[in-house]
Amino acid sequence: MDDSAAREEVRSLLASGLVTEVFPRADSQDDALAITARLRGADGLRQKLVIAGFTLETIVYAGIEQPCSTCMYFLVHRRYCELSELKLPVEPEWSCRLWRM
Ligand code: SF4
Repeated sequence: MDDSAAREEVRSLLASGLVTEVFPRADSQDDALAITARLRGADGLRQKLVIAGFTLETIVYAGIEQPCSTCMYFLVHRRYCELSELKLPVEPEWSCRLWRM
């Protein structure tokens, strides 16, 4: 599946009302490690999106906007999340709770 088709699959799952674990956000390194450990055991795309807390809109948390576009894992030219436990095409305005500046 190419990036465009994979991105549309993610968008479709989220737009259809998939409830994801948007909160709590990963405030600490320990929080992030706990979430990525769960992601490594995820069974398929749907479960990954749930555990990572994906949203189609930017979440503002503690006064900080957390879009993929400003996350350290975002590859701007490919519109892709390179976090090894995700490895997914995303859109700049999407968000997840593993966001890192
Ligand atoms: S880790 Fe960053 S780039 Fe990846 S989905 Fe989450 S917010 Fe977007």
